[in-house]
Amino acid sequence: MKTTVAVIGGGAAGLAAALAALRQGAAVVVLEKGKALGRKVLASGGGRCNLGNARVSAGRYHGGDKAFVSALLEGFDVRAFFEELGVPVMEEADGRLFPRCGRSQAVVGALQAALNELGAETRLEAAVEGVDKSGKGFILRLGQERLAADALVLACGGLGYPKLGGGREGYSLVESLGHKLTELTPALVPLCAGASWPQELDGVRVEAALRVEHSGRELAQARGELLFTDYGVSGPAALDVSREAARACLKGQVEGVVDLFPERSEGEFLSFLKKRAQRFKTRSLKGFFIGLLPEKVPAVLLKRLGLDAHAPASTLDEAELNRLGGTLKGWRFPVTGPRPWDEAMATAGGVRVPEVDPHTLESRKARGVYLAGEMLDVDGDSGGFNLQFAWASGMRAGSSAAG
Ligand SMILES: Cc1cc2nc3c(=O)[nH]c(=O)nc-3n(C[C@H](O)[C@H](O)[C@H](O)COP(=O)(O)OP(=O)(O)OC[C@H]3O[C@@H](n4cnc5c(N)ncnc54)[C@H](O)[C@@H]3O)c2cc1C
Repeated sequence: MKTTVAVIGGGAAGLAAALAALRQGAAVVVLEKGKALGRKVLASGGGRCNLGNARVSAGRYHGGDKAFVSALLEGFDVRAFFEELGVPVMEEADGRLFPRCGRSQAVVGALQAALNELGAETRLEAAVEGVDKSGKGFILRLGQERLAADALVLACGGLGYPKLGGGREGYSLVESLGHKLTELTPALVPLCAGASWPQELDGVRVEAALRVEHSGRELAQARGELLFTDYGVSGPAALDVSREAARACLKGQVEGVVDLFPERSEGEFLSFLKKRAQRFKTRSLKGFFIGLLPEKVPAVLLKRLGLDAHAPASTLDEAELNRLGGTLKGWRFPVTGPRPWDEAMATAGGVRVPEVDPHTLESRKARGVYLAGEMLDVDGDSGGFNLQFAWASGMRAGSSAAG
């Protein structure tokens, strides 16, 4: 008799789990509450699917504990995984991995094809509402229907992007099985600013470092593209500090500090500015910034510092140069909070990892139940780390569930 594995959730982790269980010879049913499989995968990487990162390490993950993450990532080769599915992978800047064809549809399509070939049953619009223990197995409740399974993989994802499947149902299922959750907060989410200058720069993209501080203490710092928006900041640099910022906003005041020239120290930058002021002394202050920053930035900056954009650079005195340099290296704004869950690409927090066996991902609260993906208290930086964790944990949970 084949083991019957029910996989709850047809996202990245659930699809990988189903594949691994099928390869171990189990009979597999994938139960997905939505109308399609892999909806977040399809939306990921702007439709290109940043499916992993060649420079993966436990240090790129938060929550849980590093040993737990290391145990899962070890031995999982994301490139080989996709090459075997017929999807060549290419590496881009910072080790980010994408399907060579540049389409996330290829990733979901290849997984779906493999599941079909191995005889998986996939059911859409099949929301699992409850789980009951029955002898050595389980009975799942889906509306009026009851479904029996020998083992379960719970891969229900997190709270972000409800229109792509985010929701609380999975957490309710694990809580009913005896699990405890750590605090759930949005991660990889844009941040709202309580000052007008980021909004005045709406649409401007810069290479910068963004630091977030709480009571003068640095919480997180990220370097990369920063996008100013009509509510605050977005882009990789903002997303990567958002988890700490969102958590700290629950406790008190948080400040964002933008460094527009992170490649130079404060001292170096100031002497650079002074030399530049000498060199371009006949230019207007507006012209002084040509080639340094997108046009909108000096316009907003000069207005805020009360400097006349049409005055020649030679009129800048020592104090004004210091103020300009200080602001460009540390332009502050209050962070009023994260954008809503609808815009959170990941969830920080989840099922406490000590409640899960790191080698099999079996629940220590309910034997025969395996957990994978974003439901666990593990979240990664932007750059493909979340999907990589979803595939790796899904494969581990699926093969363990198949016995
Ligand atoms: C817009 C966007 C872009 C992203 N881009 C990237 C990227 O480029 N690279 C990267 O690494 N990460 C990216 N992420 C994050 C990544 O998509 C997630 O971390 C990953 O999908 C998590 O996989 P998962 O299987 O755990 O959860 P999900 O992919 O969310 O899958 C969970 C599934 O379970 C289903 N479900 C939930 N409860 C039930 C239930 N009770 N019964 C049945 N089904 C249920 C849901 O409908 C959903 O389909 C992005 C996320 C978003 C939203």
